[in-house]
Amino acid sequence: MVDRRDFLKASLLGASALALTGKGGAATAAPASGGAVARVISTWDFGVAANQAAWSVLARGGHALDAVEAGVMVPEADLKNHSVGRAGYPDRDGHVSLDASIMDADGSCGAVAALEHIAHPIQVARRVMERTPHVLLVGDGALQFALEQGFKREELLTPESAQAWKEWQKTAHYQPTANSERRDYGKTGLPGGKDNHDTIGMLAIDAHGRLAGACTTSGMAWKLRGRVGDSPVIGAGLYVDGEVGAATSTGVGEEVIRNAGSFLVVELMRQGRSPQEACHEAVMRIVKKRPNASKDLQVGFLAMNRAGEVGAFAIQPGFSYAVCDATRQDGLLPARSVF
Ligand code: ASP
Repeated sequence: MVDRRDFLKASLLGASALALTGKGGAATAAPASGGAVARVISTWDFGVAANQAAWSVLARGGHALDAVEAGVMVPEADLKNHSVGRAGYPDRDGHVSLDASIMDADGSCGAVAALEHIAHPIQVARRVMERTPHVLLVGDGALQFALEQGFKREELLTPESAQAWKEWQKTAHYQPTANSERRDYGKTGLPGGKDNHDTIGMLAIDAHGRLAGACTTSGMAWKLRGRVGDSPVIGAGLYVDGEVGAATSTGVGEEVIRNAGSFLVVELMRQGRSPQEACHEAVMRIVKKRPNASKDLQVGFLAMNRAGEVGAFAIQPGFSYAVCDATRQDGLLPARSVF
């Protein structure tokens, strides 16, 4: 995590030189070749590499849905990334348990939650979307489906993550009381704290103007077994509507679920807000309900409208998002924040 934060700091310095900032600090749409906007954006610094994989699909005229799937598979496979996919930090009891969702512009969507032993949950989410009449499969059922679909069962807990879990156990005994996270965002309120959980949410628009989104995470570190965050919940961690735009989130998933966060961002854009304004308003809804807790609570939203305009907003400083299109491959921007 320290390495990643250092990288972020360095990259943000570089990003300040990019001519990306429009009104309100949001990235503005720039026409790609042929007049259409093709662009991919994603959360956090690890979004830079993920975007490039997505861009390789978009650049050859590919579908936004294929782009976001290919893109988020990069952090899912990254052994240095302890918040997405393989090598993600485990739950309180040592199980790596993954959440993911994918959504197309026409409302088609699929998701898996609390999925263990499958390295690329985003691919399973897409299979749920395309090969079942369902939207969400969870736990053992999701694993059974993945194995039936030919995915390989693997051990996802790496020695490094296991070591971090053992270290955490030396000082922490996570036994939450009812609604503890509502009263206290301090060390005992949430097991992962505000720094050791980050999701990749990715949104893309392709050269044909098609939108799609994907979201994948190992969720909050040291969570209770079976805990599901916002990422696989359609309308919370991800929402796409081809008529309007798309949104995704990162941070404390419980708060995003409580506020139907990504759906809210898209609906605000439908009412005429810019992506930046919509993300800001969605963040403020959370902050208003948590006046005491919000100093320690992090939630960030990222959005793109169907014109390819981009916006982001977070409660705390530190949230960044990566932008990639025909004019820049490795843009990384700091999101504005409430505090
Ligand atoms: N939103 C994720 C969750 O709550 C974690 C994160 O993005 O920080 O599972």
